[in-house]
Amino acid sequence: MRKPLGAGNWKMNKTIAEARALAAGIARGLADLQEAAEKVDIVLGPPYLSLSAVAEAAAGAPLGVAGQDCSAEAGGAFTGEVSAPMLKDAGATHVIVGHSERRELLSEGDTQVAAKAAAASAGGLVPVVCIGEPITTREAGATLDRIGFQLEHSVFSVFKNPPGELVIAYEPVWAIGTGKTATPAQAQEVHAYIRKRLGENFGVDWAGNSRILYGGSMKPGNAAELLAQPDIDGGLIGGASLVEADFLEIVRIAAGG
Ligand code: PEP
Repeated sequence: MRKPLGAGNWKMNKTIAEARALAAGIARGLADLQEAAEKVDIVLGPPYLSLSAVAEAAAGAPLGVAGQDCSAEAGGAFTGEVSAPMLKDAGATHVIVGHSERRELLSEGDTQVAAKAAAASAGGLVPVVCIGEPITTREAGATLDRIGFQLEHSVFSVFKNPPGELVIAYEPVWAIGTGKTATPAQAQEVHAYIRKRLGENFGVDWAGNSRILYGGSMKPGNAAELLAQPDIDGGLIGGASLVEADFLEIVRIAAGG
């Protein structure tokens, strides 16, 4: 039985003070939820500048902290970049790589995403590798081909052996920040395919123990039906993770209501 994982992606939102307050509020909320909180792993993904403050606010609570990206390099002359060891030093446990906003707006390709995932893993962080299809691909009936390609080039190209821990986030691009959500059946079909491919490459046991998250306008109103799918092990949550009550409600739902 896989423990669900709820990961918040705060994107480019919140000042340091606001981020600290949101993390502290979530930590307090989890203390109230008690048993539910123990049934779910929870990770907050603030902007880099707020990472230490969020890690401090989260200390003592069952909360991990995620960077929203990392460099493929461990250090050196890479102006503006932040490495996995730096994120870990600031208190991060996870790092999101290959988010579709970065793929689209910053032209990140699968090769770069793979290198970042490898660097994250080598740096002691759990990579959360995002993959997902644009609407044109879905309408063309080529979603699984696209997902297979992304898995091949964002994950399997660099991890020849099963990684210690690696999370895949299936995020249909057309559902991110749009209010549109994949139907539970659409999401389940892709999640099952991802698990099958993980099993072929890393072994059925590894795949069976690994979390595959759904991302794309997950909210309290749709979380239950998505999380009820057998291969959906949690959510990568953008907008709703910025609203304390909504994020906590999704955690409660993920814990089984
Ligand atoms: C995301 O940013 O990964 C995301 C899924 O955003 P939203 O929940 O707002 O669609």
